[in-house]
Amino acid sequence: MHVPVLVDEVRTLLQPERGGVFVDCTVGLGGHARMLLEGGASRLVGIDRDPDALAIATRALEAWAGRVTLVHADYRELAAVLDRLGVTTVSGVLADLGVSSMQLEAEGRGFSFRRDEPLDMRMDRTRGETAAEMLERVDESELADIIYRFGEERRSRQVAYGIVTARQQAPITTTGRLAEIVRRGVRARGWQRIDPATRTFQALRIWVNGELDGLESFIGTAASRLEAGGRLALISFHSLEDRIAKHTLRDLARGEAAIVKVLTKHPVIAGEAEAAANPRARSAKLRAAVRIG
Ligand code: SAH
Repeated sequence: MHVPVLVDEVRTLLQPERGGVFVDCTVGLGGHARMLLEGGASRLVGIDRDPDALAIATRALEAWAGRVTLVHADYRELAAVLDRLGVTTVSGVLADLGVSSMQLEAEGRGFSFRRDEPLDMRMDRTRGETAAEMLERVDESELADIIYRFGEERRSRQVAYGIVTARQQAPITTTGRLAEIVRRGVRARGWQRIDPATRTFQALRIWVNGELDGLESFIGTAASRLEAGGRLALISFHSLEDRIAKHTLRDLARGEAAIVKVLTKHPVIAGEAEAAANPRARSAKLRAAVRIG
């Protein structure tokens, strides 16, 4: 259902055999967390904003239940989560950004254009606004920018125009109707390698979940909570995300006030075999740093 990416590479960079507390900020279905526990982490704190993911992780990590604490939170609340648990510094932090295949494919979440269902798209359905609600109010030029930046859709203006025109007839509340509108806006002809709605759906998902908001400050918080020798690993799936990871780690490693040393001069990417077996791995980029001082 969801195959964790770059597992061996994450293990090599995070060195769970050092023991101590590891925080998986995007515990998801527990794939990486399991590796950390098997690899020697003494305790694992697993955070996820999606209660459905936490339910699956609870089962997946049952065998280590005594060493695992799962928390429903946003990783941008990392400092507060650790404070609440009485944890000051940790051995390692992992964030495997974005959505899981489980979320993309699960019924009724509204991430996929392959099914007609309510247009929700929230990773955390206990708070915030749905994609349908946000599309009701958004300004046309802002929407075009979102679709262009987060979706790299060249026909973003036509798509935004199509959405704004369609919502005057009736609110856009389903994935099926949205996909139709987008396909018309993109005016794709002939055979397409990917569905023409893919890019816009990705853009809206990133927007609805504020996926790039606060990423820089989260990375700073994570680095500041590492003990000396503690390690941080970040996996991104979008060029904008990777750029933030790269620049933030570089800033934290710069000058007199440096608190980390970057371990990955270039991002680590999946080998051929993994990329062939797991489509999600094809766009994955892993960066890591170690705490100094
Ligand atoms: N590494 C996991 C898969 C992670 S998929 C595994 O091996 O199973 C990404 C997960 O991050 C999803 O479950 C998603 O809900 C969660 N997520 C995304 N943004 C988040 C945020 N800001 N705070 C907490 N969790 C988040």
